[in-house]
Amino acid sequence: MNIILLGPPGAGKGTQAQRLQKDLGMVQLSTGDMLRAAVASGSALGKQAKDIMEAGKLVPDELMVGLIESRIAQPDAAQGFILDGFPRTIPQAEKLDQALAGHKKKLDAVVSLEVPIETLVERISGRRSCPRDGSVYHIVQNPPRREGFCDLCGASLVQREDDKPESVRTRMQAYEASTAPLKDFYARRGLLQVVDGVGAPEAIEAAVVAALKPR
Ligand SMILES: [Zn+2]
Repeated sequence: MNIILLGPPGAGKGTQAQRLQKDLGMVQLSTGDMLRAAVASGSALGKQAKDIMEAGKLVPDELMVGLIESRIAQPDAAQGFILDGFPRTIPQAEKLDQALAGHKKKLDAVVSLEVPIETLVERISGRRSCPRDGSVYHIVQNPPRREGFCDLCGASLVQREDDKPESVRTRMQAYEASTAPLKDFYARRGLLQVVDGVGAPEAIEAAVVAALKPR
């Protein structure tokens, strides 16, 4: 089974992708991980991606689709894949379709993890980071042993500019505006499944699995 996970930052896509990978045997294809792996491998695509990123440019859709294609051709992807972070636009979705067709594969479902903006603001604005080693804490879900200080190195924790409530609201609104057309695109093809992303990770996973069952 091949699926796409949609959802804003903080919606829990990474957690769910990992759980599905473990429980259903699909491979998680995260665009960030694929880019890092390609660059590290020194492959032709990886070299191209490295040059583009070092120049501060966005990785073009064709290159991203090329990475996805080479990944899904590997034997461990035979059981299926969970794509996370791509596509974000309709042209990307169309290129992905063509690439999958070329490998005689297709999408089975597109799962949108939905979380109210204010819940995301709460989750993300509770994050505190260590400026020295990058450790991330959460004031409620994962507090440091001593409030305000890193467990590892003792440095004072900071709230990243991106994690402040106003900045989170702005990012979420932009995310919703940009992914709404993509959701319509998949809904028209009967692939979209909307899953409530609020609750315990195991309950959300059960809802995702239920949404993937053929009916
Ligand atoms: Zn630290």
